[in-house]
Amino acid sequence: MLWDIDNTLLYTGGAGGVAMTRAFRELYGVDDAFGRVEFSGRSDTAIFIDAARTHAIAQDPALEIVRFIDAYLPHMEAALREIRGALMPGIDAVLATLSERPDVTQGLGTGNFRRTGEAKLVHYGIAHYFPGTVGGFGDDHESRDELVRIGIERLRNGGSGDERVVVIGDTPHDVAAAKANGAFALGVATGRDSVQRLHGCGADAAVEDLSDTDAALHLILGA
Ligand SMILES: [Mg+2]
Repeated sequence: MLWDIDNTLLYTGGAGGVAMTRAFRELYGVDDAFGRVEFSGRSDTAIFIDAARTHAIAQDPALEIVRFIDAYLPHMEAALREIRGALMPGIDAVLATLSERPDVTQGLGTGNFRRTGEAKLVHYGIAHYFPGTVGGFGDDHESRDELVRIGIERLRNGGSGDERVVVIGDTPHDVAAAKANGAFALGVATGRDSVQRLHGCGADAAVEDLSDTDAALHLILGA
């Protein structure tokens, strides 16, 4: 399965946005560069490119991203320490139970850049559930459909074979990316979007949260 990070596994209290803003200011001298950029459900690459174009800071934003991630990571680590967030309800129990099953590979399907996404998992104490940090990330592709496709490919190459793939996320973007890749879309309404909205955009199942471990495992494992 592929897990989205923000508002699905955990809530950072906005540390990502704060850290991106600080990194952008440090590199390019622009304050509040992301003030009018939509974050929810989008890849960090898409978010960065929007801001880079708006502020005309780089001829080739795609090349500039490498530099940006280097600047962003220490700001992310600092912002995670400063701002209080939390794991989403039930996440630790669900991850712990899944990690005991040899037939299940847990991966990530997230718009976060790999290194800053990992920093969030480390800070909230769940990185060990994702050995090797398999998955698709914001630096793999600007489009969520594509980064989820890449994540599924890596999951399969990692030995998951024909295992049913479940994509778990909190936004219509996660649902759309799951459906675009023939995966089961499990929506969790722990972000901005309601169960009704997630159902409405095509989720195969949608729940308020994953606090009912048995119900969550039933949906995730399909058995
Ligand atoms: Mg999310």
